[in-house]
Amino acid sequence: MTITENIKEVYKDIREDITVIAVSKTKPLEDIKEAYNSGVRNFGENKVQELIYKMDNFPHRDVNWHLLGHLQRNKVKYIVGRVNLIHSLDSVKLLEEIQRQYEKQEKVAEVLIQINIGKEENKTGIFIEDLENMIENCKNCSNVMVKGLMAIIPIGDEESCRKYFKDMKKIFDKIKEKSYENVQMKYLSMGMSGDYKIAIEEGSNMVRIGEGIFGKRDYNI
Ligand SMILES: *Cc1c(COP(=O)(O)O)cnc(C)c1O
Repeated sequence: MTITENIKEVYKDIREDITVIAVSKTKPLEDIKEAYNSGVRNFGENKVQELIYKMDNFPHRDVNWHLLGHLQRNKVKYIVGRVNLIHSLDSVKLLEEIQRQYEKQEKVAEVLIQINIGKEENKTGIFIEDLENMIENCKNCSNVMVKGLMAIIPIGDEESCRKYFKDMKKIFDKIKEKSYENVQMKYLSMGMSGDYKIAIEEGSNMVRIGEGIFGKRDYNI
């Protein structure tokens, strides 16, 4: 299947109010252009350097770039005002650095708080117990606007996926009911190639699809 065919297939059963992010990490610019020509306007990368290279060299400006991977504090300065949405706010220290760098340039960062919903050691994201503290700290950060939550759930069968997605939706709705300064619950970013349909059924409104659009990744090139 070509990228164009994959995109048709994916979009076929996704409602229009759901944002599809085509995750182009490791893939060349030509692949991103093909996706663009098929109508995709949201692209996700997980490394700052690769993201910047692709933004700088992509010929079209009418696209949204998403940073999905862990963001090192010393790299925040490179993305100020350039990334549409940072999905990986995963510590108060990173929050403070984003605030510092964006304030300097009088810009506002739009971010999602990444939740490590399965409490997996090999994954970044905050534990649910630390969410309140994170939100509390956002009060002091007027150059950071939280737009929702992101999660990468543990690998598992459908039942397990559903449980984690449901847990995320509950947390999302709970925060949404309250009003916190600099925090809105607009996007619930969950679901990838293997489980995006389940994620949408459980309330996701932003899915991140890599291999399902661009085909298998090869990390050795
Ligand atoms: C790579 C990646 C994806 C896409 O994964 P696929 O299984 O290829 O769809 C989604 N989210 C994050 C954070 C990723 O790093």
